[in-house]
Amino acid sequence: MAELEKKTKQALVPSEWEYAPAPESREIVQLDERYGHFVGGEWLEPRETYTTIAPASEEPLAEIGQATPEEVEGAIASARQAFENGWSALPGSERAKYLFRIARILQERSREFAVLESLNGGKPIKESRDVDLPLAAAHFFYYAGWADKLEYAFPNRRPRPVGVAGQIIPWNFPLLMLAWKIAPALAAGNTVVLKPAETTPLTALLFCDVVRQAELPAGVVNIVTGDGRAGAALVEGEVDKIAFTGSTEVGKAIQRQVAGTGKRLTLELGGKAANVVFDDCALDQAVEGIVNGIYFNQGHVCCAGSRLFVQESIHEDVVKKLKRRMKTLRVGDPLDKNTDVGAINSRAQLEKIQELVAAGEEEGAEIYQPPCKLPERGYWFAPTVFTNVAQSYRIAQEEIFGPVLSVLTFRTPAEAVEKANNTPYGLSAGIWTEKGSRILWMAERMRAGVVWANTFNRFDPASPFGGYKESGFGREGGRHGLEPYLEFE
Ligand code: NDP
Repeated sequence: MAELEKKTKQALVPSEWEYAPAPESREIVQLDERYGHFVGGEWLEPRETYTTIAPASEEPLAEIGQATPEEVEGAIASARQAFENGWSALPGSERAKYLFRIARILQERSREFAVLESLNGGKPIKESRDVDLPLAAAHFFYYAGWADKLEYAFPNRRPRPVGVAGQIIPWNFPLLMLAWKIAPALAAGNTVVLKPAETTPLTALLFCDVVRQAELPAGVVNIVTGDGRAGAALVEGEVDKIAFTGSTEVGKAIQRQVAGTGKRLTLELGGKAANVVFDDCALDQAVEGIVNGIYFNQGHVCCAGSRLFVQESIHEDVVKKLKRRMKTLRVGDPLDKNTDVGAINSRAQLEKIQELVAAGEEEGAEIYQPPCKLPERGYWFAPTVFTNVAQSYRIAQEEIFGPVLSVLTFRTPAEAVEKANNTPYGLSAGIWTEKGSRILWMAERMRAGVVWANTFNRFDPASPFGGYKESGFGREGGRHGLEPYLEFE
């Protein structure tokens, strides 16, 4: 009998699943000790440098150039020369060949890029592998397809390229933002100077190797690295267009700087998206969408569903299910294939998140974080949800850009629309309901550039993306994404 009892005890079903470590190997990435600026197809020795690190461990990875205004000017001159000496006059079908080549090389080298992206940016490898890389390649494929069809995309308008584009990108999707910017610019016949974010330059620098491998003519793509000063020098320089993705504050400064110069400008700025859940929705599916909406990429997503509006009748149920689901999120090593939530991109960003979360608690919201052990080194923040949030609280108004969700309630669709639109931003929104008519009714009234229905954070190169109000102007993606890079006769 005692023997039987012992056996029964041993056979007990485990109460929680433990995952064995599943680290992706770093071997595939060959890092140089020091990187210069990529100008005219050559590496130029930088005058000043800084160190880029892995945010998950604070390990130094490489020395990176901090571009001076003269170095930025040199890159612009190289882009101008390439534009005038052939690229702009090349038939679209020839430009398309280069873009197709870049797309295929990105696919071939996707593991290398994914590992490097996770190492330098802190995002989980399963996201860089399954989202960032496939989408980056897809953007090059997609715009390669348009390169020789511009006259069909804009019939009777005789499109021609704008010239040299200065492109400034953020740290949340480094390679993907590069693809969003470079692919349409090149397809339309422009040349570019791109500046990646200070904290995440490595995949943009590896991309220079792809540019060489694809035998793109020298000077068509130039990459200069450094902090905001390099970005400001690019905006100041002799470029014909500026494309910027980043904070609303810097976007406004750029708009002021560009005013009156005749330079074209597109701004993709911050957001505070409303994710609206009605009581007739498929609840479990909605909970997955809520989690994906805010905890994907540690919430470092301009279109993150950071304000959750739940219909009052199901508030308790949703919050209960959400908390249960949050307990299963695995926070930790970005290179572990089981990780759901990786490292915060930088110390500065971590401090910003901490400050806003403290403000939420002070203002009276109720905080919940699932039990999880955060690594000792590096920058980490546990997935967080706030309930009892009033619309006036800072956590309901300001972009936190971290894994922090604010839950609010509503009773009627009209109230949901009013509350959802009560923000200076207008980038994206989500609707969860089984009624098609309600989706259309809501989507028509929500002031957001993208409205997802029964899903969230879905991207496709054929679909335009961009905002209203303080989320900026101009569209990237789709046929619309070509327009900012074209002039019409
Ligand atoms: P920034 O807007 O400062 O960064 C975006 C890019 O602009 C980076 O390449 C940056 O360089 C560059 N830059 C900075 N200052 C200037 C300037 N004066 N002229 C031209 N370019 C400049 O965002 P942060 O990284 O400082 O993040 C701050 C906040 O912005 C975040 O907490 C988040 O709320 C929001 N954000 C929103 C993003 C979005 O996609 N909507 C993306 C990133 C941030 P450098 O990297 O050196 O600063």
